[in-house]
Amino acid sequence: MATNPAEVLGLPKPAWAADEVGMLYDMATRFMAEEIAPRYDEFEKNEMFDRESWLKAGAAGLLCASMPEKYGGSGGTFAHESAIIEAIGHVGVDGFGIGLHNSIVAPYILHYGSEEQKEKWLPKLATGELIGAIAMTEPGAGSDLQGVKTRAEKDGNHYKISGSKTFITNGQLANLIIVVTKTDPDKGAKGTSLMVVETDEVEGFERGRNLDKIGLKSNDTSELFFNDVRVPTSNLLGHEEGKGFVQLMQQLPQERLQIGTGAIAMIERALALTIDYVKERKAFGKAVIDFQNTQFKLAELKTEATIGRVFYNDCVARHIDGGLDPVTASMAKYWLSDLQGKVVDECLQLHGGYGYMNEYPIARMYRDARVQRIYGGTNEIMKLLIGRSL
Ligand SMILES: Cc1cc2nc3c(=O)[nH]c(=O)nc-3n(C[C@H](O)[C@H](O)[C@H](O)COP(=O)(O)OP(=O)(O)OC[C@H]3O[C@@H](n4cnc5c(N)ncnc54)[C@H](O)[C@@H]3O)c2cc1C
Repeated sequence: MATNPAEVLGLPKPAWAADEVGMLYDMATRFMAEEIAPRYDEFEKNEMFDRESWLKAGAAGLLCASMPEKYGGSGGTFAHESAIIEAIGHVGVDGFGIGLHNSIVAPYILHYGSEEQKEKWLPKLATGELIGAIAMTEPGAGSDLQGVKTRAEKDGNHYKISGSKTFITNGQLANLIIVVTKTDPDKGAKGTSLMVVETDEVEGFERGRNLDKIGLKSNDTSELFFNDVRVPTSNLLGHEEGKGFVQLMQQLPQERLQIGTGAIAMIERALALTIDYVKERKAFGKAVIDFQNTQFKLAELKTEATIGRVFYNDCVARHIDGGLDPVTASMAKYWLSDLQGKVVDECLQLHGGYGYMNEYPIARMYRDARVQRIYGGTNEIMKLLIGRSL
């Protein structure tokens, strides 16, 4: 396989991926290949990573790459986060939940936290001492987040949080969790507030099952229970109650774009692996690549992957300039994750029976790809949002 699977498309690098972003990509790729890939089967079997890997990633400068240096980050932009997520996808260690930690959890604290909150939490997120998660989804509220029932009730200089969450990425390991709560249930979206729960510091917090998924086995995805968990009022994110829904809406474009990052990286890896495979595999006395069907299929996939990569690169350029609107971010999430599903499926087909065997990476990619159309807002919800712009 090409050293960088993106090379199968033969596209020039966008301006945002030059210089130190390119160097970060190379470094992250080496880290994932040398430190994570050799232990990946063990993480899949345990259905979670270990803390040591997070601390190593922190020491290597791969956590909080886009956070300011004064809070322990590397002072980069989303381009740097993209380089790291692409490295994860290209090496094939997709369950490492760094993308969520870096591009979702840390930015909430940077954008809405007080100076004191930033100084307290960001440096520890950058070292890996704190592992981040965001808990929006509940058993009764997924797509419709206005239906969240978890309650945060003021009690002197504390909030008392009660409720349960499910499907939470990094849920077994996370020790800093941003929890979507209702501070005023009568006000609907305007009664929503984000609370930071440092799980090591509270009582009444319980982790439920590490959920048994069909893919992304190495990532812990969990139920979480809050039984009158008391946090200081200073753990409210932002300066006043009731801003949670607006904060979520403002941050979702980056969350959606980074799902697109994983998608395009996996698309490129699937193509690179499959091109190698069909050149090696023989049937009817010739290489599988010599059948016209194989060439036509791969020609179609390469064309669509190229369209996807050009669109993705444009979204990143716009996002870095502050101009990526929520509708385009929804297009990127839905279209790239749909394309990922299609490309990985077709690539598996070109592997024949070997594609169905877990020892071949395309099999794992097939299982891992499916959820991309579901989390971060389902692709149906993305179309709903795009539809509203018509
Ligand atoms: C592996 C994994 C990791 C996750 N990580 C996290 C996490 O870290 N944090 C977190 O908070 N959540 C997380 N989630 C939850 C995820 O975001 C939700 O599963 C998703 O938003 C869908 O919600 P739901 O499962 O309740 O489905 P539902 O909302 O019940 O949807 C069921 C179906 O109805 C469709 N639907 C719903 N409303 C409409 C509508 N208005 N129009 C048309 N169709 C509609 C949906 O598209 C879907 O097909 C994760 C989920 C998974 C599987």
